[in-house]
Amino acid sequence: MAHDEDDDQQARDETQETQVLHTAAGAGAGVAGAGADVAARRDQAVLAAVERGVVGSAAPVVGLLDVVGIRASAAALRAAFDAVTPPGTPVLHAFAVKATPLVPVLRLLRSAGIGAEVASPGELALARAAGIPPADTVLDSPAKTPAELREALALGIAVNADNPQELARVDALMQSAATGSPVGIRVNPQIGGGAIGALSTATATSKFGVPLLDEGAREWVVRACLDRPWLTRLHAHSGSQGMPLEMMVRGVAATYELAEEINERAGRRQIDTIDIGGGLPVNFGSDDETPTHAQYARRLKARVPGLLDGRYGIVTEFGRSLLAKHGTVLARVEYAKRAGGRPIAVTHAGVQVATRTVYAPASWPLRIAAYDPKGRPKSGPAVGQDVAGPACFAGDLLAENRPLPLLEAGDYVAALDTGAYYFAQHYSYNSLARPAVWGFSADPSRTGEVRFAVVREPQTLDEIVAEAGGSAERDALRQL
Ligand SMILES: *Cc1c(COP(=O)(O)O)cnc(C)c1O
Repeated sequence: MAHDEDDDQQARDETQETQVLHTAAGAGAGVAGAGADVAARRDQAVLAAVERGVVGSAAPVVGLLDVVGIRASAAALRAAFDAVTPPGTPVLHAFAVKATPLVPVLRLLRSAGIGAEVASPGELALARAAGIPPADTVLDSPAKTPAELREALALGIAVNADNPQELARVDALMQSAATGSPVGIRVNPQIGGGAIGALSTATATSKFGVPLLDEGAREWVVRACLDRPWLTRLHAHSGSQGMPLEMMVRGVAATYELAEEINERAGRRQIDTIDIGGGLPVNFGSDDETPTHAQYARRLKARVPGLLDGRYGIVTEFGRSLLAKHGTVLARVEYAKRAGGRPIAVTHAGVQVATRTVYAPASWPLRIAAYDPKGRPKSGPAVGQDVAGPACFAGDLLAENRPLPLLEAGDYVAALDTGAYYFAQHYSYNSLARPAVWGFSADPSRTGEVRFAVVREPQTLDEIVAEAGGSAERDALRQL
């Protein structure tokens, strides 16, 4: 019945999406608009980074994080869900720590009212180091050990059980310890995959959660809840890069309907919170944020109104959509050469900072911006060229045959939209050092006003040696 209205709403959302794109496309330099602001702040930061030696021959690759942009995204996420829920609805936005596992970033998000979703002892340690309170922390992971479960319940952080065996472990712990942890079950609505197979969490055979459409599984979840009054949450994370919004909404809708069924059969509001996961796709094609958290929240409101009418607390777990657009890898062009007629810029950014792009370039293309040796945007006719990394294998390319102003030694290249799942997750191929990560705050309305703060120091050669077992006092292997 509500379908026509839904479709109208969808059409309105899509019209808005299109308008946003048109505005940005028509925006010349200096015209205010989210995309133009982002680019202006980035250009300002690159100029200042070169001027002040944040990047240069001594530090040929760095990660940069736009603090103004991160704050704006955090505020927009909160506003998006505030706009579709009645005042007083408990909403926790738990940032998926795996997207950008850097403590100062978690602290910044904390100060913007965002908690943490963690999926390993390491990520929990990072969240705790950032001072994220247990009440704002959610533990998901498909392979929690008894020790991890015990620690989580002792801390009082929310835990989502992945499968029946894990729930049995939680049962045992619940008998022996009093805990304030909300406990939920992760379900897989099996709505299908998105465009990137390795990231799709809601296919029929995905490894995560209880597969709701499998024979007997849905009834098992209902019974599991009816038998355990302390099971008060359902969790589904069915979105991912490359997944259409509409499919994500279907996954959330299926989870909501299951909660309604459980509550109906329990005769009380046993499921009081629904964790809708993260997975909002990111636009890697321009500086505009599309889709926005607000568009997703409105789509949820139109399609699953009962989820947001105030009867349920809401948890979200966005990662990429909060941070991706706010990170830039900035690297020096060491050499410019040619092979087979193809110009090749040999830079210091490759597989160690852009692992996904290098190994799966078709799924993860990155925009590249070119800057001159002073850090000014480089102009000139676009020439197809390879932007190569420093690693010793042929496929170590940030971009292949990419039309850009012809790069020369001493120029800089920036790999854009790399704030999530890129430089923060170093890959130590060729023992290439983890680069420094700097946060910056820029204000294009006041030229020159750029401030930097170190987020992560660069890895030293001594650290590389020590982490490669070099600090062992005795010669372990030769003693065998
Ligand atoms: C990875 C992950 C997220 C975050 O996904 P994004 O695509 O970065 O938003 C959220 N929840 C769970 C359970 C995850 O595994």
